[in-house]
Amino acid sequence: MTTFLDIPDQQAPQAEPRVRTAYDPLPFIRWEPNGKRIVRVHTSDRILYRRCRRRWNWGSPTRGFLEAAGSPPAPLWLGTGFHFSLEDFHGWNLWGDPVAALDAYAQSFKPDELPEDWVENVELGRSMLHYYSLWYPRRSEFDTLWLNDPVTGQPVPQVEVEFEIPLYDLWGSYHGVETEVYYVGAFDRVCVDAFGRLWITDYKTAKRIDTNKLETDPQITAYTWAGSKLYAEGLVEGVLYIQFAKQQSDAVTVLKDGNLSQNKQIATTWALYREALIQRFGSVPPQYVNHLNYLATQENAEGDMFIKRSLVRRNAYSIAMEEAKIMAEVKEMIDTELPLYPSPDRDCFFMCPFREPCLAMDDGSDYQHLIDTMFQERTKVPAWRNRVKWPAIPPTHVLDRRNRIDVSMREGL
Ligand code: SF4
Repeated sequence: MTTFLDIPDQQAPQAEPRVRTAYDPLPFIRWEPNGKRIVRVHTSDRILYRRCRRRWNWGSPTRGFLEAAGSPPAPLWLGTGFHFSLEDFHGWNLWGDPVAALDAYAQSFKPDELPEDWVENVELGRSMLHYYSLWYPRRSEFDTLWLNDPVTGQPVPQVEVEFEIPLYDLWGSYHGVETEVYYVGAFDRVCVDAFGRLWITDYKTAKRIDTNKLETDPQITAYTWAGSKLYAEGLVEGVLYIQFAKQQSDAVTVLKDGNLSQNKQIATTWALYREALIQRFGSVPPQYVNHLNYLATQENAEGDMFIKRSLVRRNAYSIAMEEAKIMAEVKEMIDTELPLYPSPDRDCFFMCPFREPCLAMDDGSDYQHLIDTMFQERTKVPAWRNRVKWPAIPPTHVLDRRNRIDVSMREGL
């Protein structure tokens, strides 16, 4: 079990006394019982570190892992359920419908574990997932990779693929502290295209779709690097980045004469409008064909206003550069003597939960009292997954065109 202590209270193995500076909060260091320090670094942790060392020291899973006391049990509650639904949909597909999987996710929580706005969240998630089930069949040229489990020999879909990459060059003794370092994360899905190339797939739910960030998105670069480490050289082609707008479509208005509105301002798509027509008339009446064609022009092979799929590649030089950056950053992050200075800017007011103790530290007030009274170690995620009621059907069908693609015999995979 991992424990954490702060430097003044602990008997760190051979830790040297250190000189503290006024801007330097007490660093939180996590230890294994055997005195070793195991550091598992996520991409999000690197982003937090680069944003502000002081905030990172308080909030990082590798450090204090603090959150505001009384925080909702699961701040990313809908995102977790959304990922769970797509994990099933593109894996065993036991529910046959991602909306049903989301309902099962919600039902696996006890009432006191649910966030206050869970009903609204489920409604939004159901709408988004239902639309995905209409959107996806016309863009299904990527299949889930299936690999044989090394223990059972059974094919397993590569969804929610957790990885742990040892950064051996950084293993060693830091100020007397034996340290092992790993880069960790989870691929939402690994896809294979018609040419046998692999695509690391990442789902993002956000208020709005943003494709401008793709060139510099740190997770895309890091996942391409991780894929290049985990699979044979040259097999990973890039990242399939799928963004879902957290937005419900407008209901298609029924006019007084019983027809459907063809107002172009309505936030809808070809698939949703067509679905509304079929529900109302049983087929697509000829007078709606022009409007359907207009809606078809508002999207392309990569998506529309609600879901956008981007194929992002990084070349070999970028991947090597990413590795160099990872090693440089993580080397700093594992340094027990790292100065933890703040990086204040105008976003602190909106973005940082530690603003009060941060200000207190800089005006000489008792910031530690604020940390002790306003924050708690982050609550563990409820064991919802163990309580999911799985469908009583055998896992024999998958949605993808080619069932159980097994490329494990491919050289080097
Ligand atoms: S308020 Fe700003 S400077 Fe202070 S810890 Fe937060 S992010 Fe860093």
